[in-house]
Amino acid sequence: LVVLKSVNKHFGALHVLQDIDLTIARGEVVVVIGPSGSGKSTLCRTINRLETVDSGTITIDGRPLPQEGRELARLRADVGMVFQSFNLFAHKTVLENVTLAQIKVRRANKQQAQEKARALLDRVGVGAQADKYPAQLSGGQQQRVAIARALAMDPKVMLFDEPTSALDPEMINEVLEVMQQLARDGMTMIVVTHEMGFARSAADRVVFMADGRIVEQAVPEQFFSNPRSDRAKDFLSKIL
Ligand code: ATP
Ligand code: MG
Repeated sequence: LVVLKSVNKHFGALHVLQDIDLTIARGEVVVVIGPSGSGKSTLCRTINRLETVDSGTITIDGRPLPQEGRELARLRADVGMVFQSFNLFAHKTVLENVTLAQIKVRRANKQQAQEKARALLDRVGVGAQADKYPAQLSGGQQQRVAIARALAMDPKVMLFDEPTSALDPEMINEVLEVMQQLARDGMTMIVVTHEMGFARSAADRVVFMADGRIVEQAVPEQFFSNPRSDRAKDFLSKIL
């Protein structure tokens, strides 16, 4: 579904993505881990074209990423993204946050958009908060709204970039549970996280990045019990 071939990206002299080859099948859950600065966020951002690449190709469903305009807006809808900071529209209610892009990008009518939004908000457990503003919600609730907002576009793939790292500990699990459920429901997901419990239980594959490269990838049991590279061994010894 998502294919990256020989993707390279520089920030000035920094070679932040180096010859990245990565194929993600429909329904697959890939957890990306690695040290700070290894290029995990940049990798996510190139997939919905928040960043351009210097060379190589990225295709979704066999189609190269569009460059601009309505096609690009549609791509961003097809590739749902959830960030560390929830990025909700502060001056819109929860319900409006989840209906806005449906109406603008997917051309849904208001009533359909609202029905769908309410169903999704229920599904992530924040249905009762629909008429509140983001600031009136806890971090965990806001992040679940952000997930509902992305899901409202019927994305082909969901990207999560450290979705729980800005949350207080007691709120982490409620967000991870929503993500677990999404994984079980067959969503294609790319998840950057330091939550190794999630990686073990939800990932089909763990991709380990260091210095802009994919150093190794394996099923979670194999990766965690028997990492092959010294970089991965060193990383795991620090976080586990
Ligand atoms: P973290 O775990 O800290 O989130 P990461 O693996 O997500 O790290 P990236 O955010 O992808 O790493 O950053 C990779 C490298 O690129 C870092 O050295 C970072 O400083 C640099 N970088 C990221 N974005 C930019 C930018 N817009 N301009 C210049 N350098 C950047
Ligand atoms: Mg990052």
